[in-house]
Amino acid sequence: MKKIAILTSGGDSPGMNAAIRAAGKYALSQGLIVYGVQRGYSGMLNNDIFLMDDCFLSGIVDKGGTKLLTARCLEFLEPEFRAIAAQNMIKKGIEGLIVIGGDGSYRGADLLSKEHGIHVVGIPGTIDNDIIGTDYTIGFDTCLNTILDAISKIRDTATSHERTILIEVMGHNSGDLALYSCLAGGGDGLLIPEMKNPIEMLALQIKGRRKIGKLHDIILVAEGVGSVHEIEKKLASLLGAEVRSVVLGHVQRGGTPSGFDRVLATRMAVKSVDILLQNSGSVMVGIEGNRIITHPISFAWEGKKTSSIYEDFEITNILSK
Ligand code: ADP
Repeated sequence: MKKIAILTSGGDSPGMNAAIRAAGKYALSQGLIVYGVQRGYSGMLNNDIFLMDDCFLSGIVDKGGTKLLTARCLEFLEPEFRAIAAQNMIKKGIEGLIVIGGDGSYRGADLLSKEHGIHVVGIPGTIDNDIIGTDYTIGFDTCLNTILDAISKIRDTATSHERTILIEVMGHNSGDLALYSCLAGGGDGLLIPEMKNPIEMLALQIKGRRKIGKLHDIILVAEGVGSVHEIEKKLASLLGAEVRSVVLGHVQRGGTPSGFDRVLATRMAVKSVDILLQNSGSVMVGIEGNRIITHPISFAWEGKKTSSIYEDFEITNILSK
């Protein structure tokens, strides 16, 4: 393998730049020619593929977002458009591709490999921590810290006004961001898609807290649970009291990547280049037990997620009383 390319795809996450930097610099150090593809698969289709030099890779390790830009590309779901995109790569002699993104981006990469023989490696880049085959995704830790900062601020005002406030956090279908935020932010209640916690139970929990003199309730709600505004209405009627809700939204996607995310991105990126050098088909990298590991890329949709979500959920229940 002599030429590889790097792209970011799907939702952006803090630490993607650290992954681009490490993959690019390490690949250059191994004598590879490195290309950048702009705007994910859209850029591959539109031939926005450029030679990456060391200068492009400098000064970005601490920057949120992605210098390669990201996009969603519906055409890539169609084989004829994937063929055009693949030809743009093959014409330049690019044999290997690093895709930094979520499992949707992995599916596109897998098809590119199967249909056109391009070796691919998927690096899990998403704040949602929703990729099977890795304990953590790049951006999750930074996002968690952004949420914790918001919780502290919201709690100040919640206490002053003795309010119940629901905080909706991202996560797609995963409750990890809400669960970790609840554990680390001292949340007083948690609604996540993986666990049934009826709103009636939450209302009882809140009433119990108020009876013993608690002045506020901070409830973490994962976006995968449904409309926070509907939950707000139902909870208010069960409590017979006002409830407020805050949707943190896109502020969760940005910001300076945490040290953890930068280290994770760097280690995964270096491993990805090593894998490409072995011409190994279609692979994803992950972290399990503080070791950087690999799985076939299809593990992201065929494998089983291992987590301590049930135990952690129980802990939040006990500590929020
Ligand atoms: P993420 O990678 O964060 O999960 P998406 O699911 O939006 O984000 O996927 C990003 C891009 O990956 C899509 O816009 C599309 O170009 C490509 N993609 C997603 N799913 C597939 C699929 N089943 N087949 C081919 N390409 C796909």
